[in-house]
Amino acid sequence: MDKKELLDELKRKALQDKALPLKSGATNLVFGVGNPDAEILCIGEGPGYWEDQKAEPFVGNAGILLNKLLTSINIKREEVYITNVVMHRPPSNRDPLPEEITAYQPYVDGIIEIIKSKVILTLGRFSMAKFLPNVKISSVHGKVFKVNCGGKEVTVVPMFHPAAALRRNDVMLMIKNDFLNLPDIIKKVKSEKPKIKVDQMSLV
Ligand code: URA
Repeated sequence: MDKKELLDELKRKALQDKALPLKSGATNLVFGVGNPDAEILCIGEGPGYWEDQKAEPFVGNAGILLNKLLTSINIKREEVYITNVVMHRPPSNRDPLPEEITAYQPYVDGIIEIIKSKVILTLGRFSMAKFLPNVKISSVHGKVFKVNCGGKEVTVVPMFHPAAALRRNDVMLMIKNDFLNLPDIIKKVKSEKPKIKVDQMSLV
């Protein structure tokens, strides 16, 4: 199966999953959208009103800003893949609970595993905490982290949430600057040699 078929299959499983805790209060599953071969995987917090209505992540004001930030580095929204740590809208847009994030984790990890992007951009503190628990966004935003995700190394760049940038000018300046550094980060990641695990080497 190719990546698109694998994503479709995973989405079908999520649609049929009766155990997903936020399902009953939501209109739609907001699984993810974008390019299955994306170099950038964006992971946000959870669907809001418009995302719930349209079954697509980041389609409200935060999404408009995300699109602009991507455009600032000559990347179209369609070129990246976008998802969230929870895939149904929490009631009244409240923060997702730890057990809710855990319930959606197999689907988020599945997307990470299928897409194999060069970098993962975490948007906001909930997706950042998935990879980098116990750090503060104010100290780590825009920096590059190599993180173990299900036994595989992934490159994570924590970003402020676009909604936070819409509320505060100082955050807007920082997120714009962090995005402008992304092309160099991706270039560097692409130039890195893949690590060969000893158990994958054939010893002659
Ligand atoms: N905020 C998020 O974190 N995700 C969305 O999909 C929309 C807004």
